[in-house]
Amino acid sequence: MKTQMDNLATALSPEALEDRVATLQQKLSDSGHRTTPQRINILRALLTTETHPTAEEIWDRVRSVSPTTTLATVYKTLDTLKELGEVMELDTRDDSRHYDGLHPDPHPHAVCKRCGRIDDVDLDGLDTLQSQATKASGYRIEEQDVTFYGLCARCQQEE
Ligand SMILES: [Zn+2]
Ligand SMILES: [Zn+2]
Repeated sequence: MKTQMDNLATALSPEALEDRVATLQQKLSDSGHRTTPQRINILRALLTTETHPTAEEIWDRVRSVSPTTTLATVYKTLDTLKELGEVMELDTRDDSRHYDGLHPDPHPHAVCKRCGRIDDVDLDGLDTLQSQATKASGYRIEEQDVTFYGLCARCQQEE
């Protein structure tokens, strides 16, 4: 049995990862949720990948260290973190919900239409876009959801 979770690419340094895990743990306990070892494993599985995992993907990784964790517990933890504003949920065209626990504030994404990979896109000018949208629509804009679709670098190479 594996004792450590697969080491996928992570945007966080080990220290930043521990900070983020501790922050989320604190938020959970401040809001009256117990932080069980299972929950902490779920936080780690969520935060050590940049791939915007689904609940099932998180569950797969958690089960390698904590086999008794149920998918329901993963969903419940993600829902709680979402309510606390610490996780962003994305709907892409593949009908499954993906989660970003590294950057919980709304931000643009690029989605690969072939392999399903999802990346963050750093963009200047979103504020400008939003104020243009406010002017053009007359709405009080409250959030935005910007997603670009195409082929990732790896899939382009395989063409
Ligand atoms: Zn791809
Ligand atoms: Zn993201």
